[in-house]
Amino acid sequence: MAKILDGKLLANEIEKVLKANVAKLKQKPILATILVGKNPSSVTYVKMKQRACKRVGMDFVKIELDEETTTEQLLIEIEKLNKDNRVDGILLQHPVPKQINERICFDAIALNKDVDGCSSQSFGAITMGKRAFFSATPNAIVSMLKHYDIDVKGKHAVIVGRSAILGKPVAMMLLNMDATVTICHSKTVDLISYTKQADILVAACGNAKYIKADWLKKGAVLIDAGYNEGNVGDIDLDNAKKIASAYTPVPGGVGPVTIMKLLEQTYESHILKNK
Ligand code: NAP
Repeated sequence: MAKILDGKLLANEIEKVLKANVAKLKQKPILATILVGKNPSSVTYVKMKQRACKRVGMDFVKIELDEETTTEQLLIEIEKLNKDNRVDGILLQHPVPKQINERICFDAIALNKDVDGCSSQSFGAITMGKRAFFSATPNAIVSMLKHYDIDVKGKHAVIVGRSAILGKPVAMMLLNMDATVTICHSKTVDLISYTKQADILVAACGNAKYIKADWLKKGAVLIDAGYNEGNVGDIDLDNAKKIASAYTPVPGGVGPVTIMKLLEQTYESHILKNK
């Protein structure tokens, strides 16, 4: 039977520690959340993050902008938050409406407040093994692998997806942990020939139940970062878990840990600011 890499359990543990640490502070750490438009999934994600802030005793500043917001208007809001000394972390919820240049906006977030690790500077630093805040979902994935004692060294990790917030940073983090990494994407020819080689498969392509059981190597560790309509991931887990040695469930896998990693880094940012 495959081992379940329970994200809810780990998230609860992180939450307990964080709550106790926040309770010892003179001032509450503050996370600023920016939501542009009304994409239903984004609205839900931001609410979940704000609720988690409340549970651990942190404050949040809520910035909600119209669907028609321009890059320039969003940059003005980010700059205000960069300059606001009370704010410890800035979360710009991805994706933003199409007319906005998301990369420019992520890159405008001050490095010391980039607690969701989305800027090019944070990515570059992490890639080079330097200190910066990690991208939240890759950070959650690596934390789960460590927590559940899954050895990455020398293993072939195959990542399906190359987004700037997920596929690319998780690939770099696993590479820095001595995995041999292959990154696949929508133009990859013969994807299955790669997934079949994976000792560790990270699914991050945003297609419901796309990766099938017969695309996998027996005994593979499956990390399903996908979250799609119907509460399903990017792997056909009902069948794939019969072949795997371990897997993250959906829901209750990578998602809950991701939120806690965001808050953990907001706490760290607060501590660094007050040092
Ligand atoms: P994204 O920006 O849409 O990127 C998807 C990536 O998958 C792209 O690199 C794309 O390739 C690749 N891809 C798409 N179809 C493919 C196919 N048929 N074969 C191989 N590669 C394919 O998505 P994202 O933001 O990284 O999110 C990915 C998934 O993770 C989604 O389900 C999302 O909901 C979930 N997610 C979960 C969390 C969490 O906390 N659990 C956080 C963020 C995202 P190209 O680059 O060639 O287009």
